[in-house]
Amino acid sequence: MTATKPYTQFTYEEMAAKNKEYVWHPFTQMKQYIEDNPVIITHGKGRKLFDMQGKSYWDGVSSIWLNVHGHCVEEINEAIRDQLNLVAHSTLLGMANVPSVLLAEKLVKLMPKGLKKVFYSDAGATSVEIAIKMAYQYWQHKGKPEKQHFITMKEAYHGDTIGAVSVGAIDLFHETYRSLLFPSIKISYPFIYRSPYGEDRDTIVQKHLEELEKTLNTRGHEIAALIVEPIVQGASGIIVMPEGYLRGVRDLCTKYDVLMIADEVATGFGRTGKMFACEHEDVTPDILTAGKGITGGYLPVAITVTTDEVYNAFLGEYEEQKTFFHGHSYTGNPLGCAAALANLELFEKTSLVDEVARKSIYLEKRLKEFYELKHVGDVRQKGFMAGIELVKDKETKEPFEWKERVGVLVCRRTRELGMLLRPLGNVVVFMPPLASTIEELDEMLSILRQAIYDITEGNEE
Ligand SMILES: *Cc1c(COP(=O)(O)O)cnc(C)c1O
Repeated sequence: MTATKPYTQFTYEEMAAKNKEYVWHPFTQMKQYIEDNPVIITHGKGRKLFDMQGKSYWDGVSSIWLNVHGHCVEEINEAIRDQLNLVAHSTLLGMANVPSVLLAEKLVKLMPKGLKKVFYSDAGATSVEIAIKMAYQYWQHKGKPEKQHFITMKEAYHGDTIGAVSVGAIDLFHETYRSLLFPSIKISYPFIYRSPYGEDRDTIVQKHLEELEKTLNTRGHEIAALIVEPIVQGASGIIVMPEGYLRGVRDLCTKYDVLMIADEVATGFGRTGKMFACEHEDVTPDILTAGKGITGGYLPVAITVTTDEVYNAFLGEYEEQKTFFHGHSYTGNPLGCAAALANLELFEKTSLVDEVARKSIYLEKRLKEFYELKHVGDVRQKGFMAGIELVKDKETKEPFEWKERVGVLVCRRTRELGMLLRPLGNVVVFMPPLASTIEELDEMLSILRQAIYDITEGNEE
């Protein structure tokens, strides 16, 4: 296999030693990590990844929520190679390149109606920074500079740069940096399983919308935008919104003249069974951010897409200084845009979004069976985004203690059984590549179920 060729002079042990010596891994307690034998990936094919020790694994979380068609997909490989033979990179500052133009056209056609202008960057976090700065500056141009504040949802995750962390609300990740952050207004995200308003979904929606309206009513005049992970709040533990909430948020933002930012970095590009999650409730945000699946999980490209209304507010004479002074070195990278174009062509060719919607009905049915397990408290799923919350006691919903690391242990067990996963606390996340077949899903699910059983029940009498 040619993919492994370049580095075959090294043994696993040598590579593991270099990894330990030189690399600091993200979201990883390095003290523990370096005591373990690391998985070192050499290549991938389809929905599988292969490591230096000759083991293969299902990519059960799509390499952290990115992968779409699988690994080493010929059409995407070829598109990148073709572009590479032309030019690897040229700037978008004051000039254009071919793939970024064609991709923007394609994206606008796919977007919820009304989103018209594409601003490129290179990570989900940067796409959010851009959205924040755009919203902030928009109101200055509109003559309402007092609109400076942001509403976000409790437990929200929008990336790890300082602006994105400022609108983030996962204490474990964000609290350390509090004094560095700008303050944001936090309202609660409707969470059916642990709702203080009982189990009736309409009541939950209504109560949460009332909470939002109260905030908007008192502070709307000083709020630039509300940012939300539409339909599924991801990093908080795959929390699926009850129907009607997103629509309600949109309507309230409109009513109180607040921009709505939909962060579709995780949910965009088919993940929830629609091209964009906003489509589930026929919502067009004022600004939409996306990344992750945009290149099929190949290269770092992200986008911030907005309406003509927002875009036009930045138009003016040079000396008016209405320019959006923001950009990154690799904004609009041609290789990334070429990969994204090939990715989106494959979406069409394989009717991928419809297929995800179809297969997710099957996935839902299979995941419901997990309730047979003693410690599965809640199964949350939308499309190919699923979270299984493990609890100590199903009746009382008492969580496992943090230090029990039950999510970590389950994922360690799935790895032994041949699938790579990564938990969020006590929530085991399952997010297979969108092109996974029913047979592949079955194999992954049986590993998942086995691992949950082994860790939570296997030692019980
Ligand atoms: C992953 C994620 C981000 C951050 O994206 P990066 O590419 O990791 O910077 C932002 N928002 C949401 C909803 C995400 O899931």
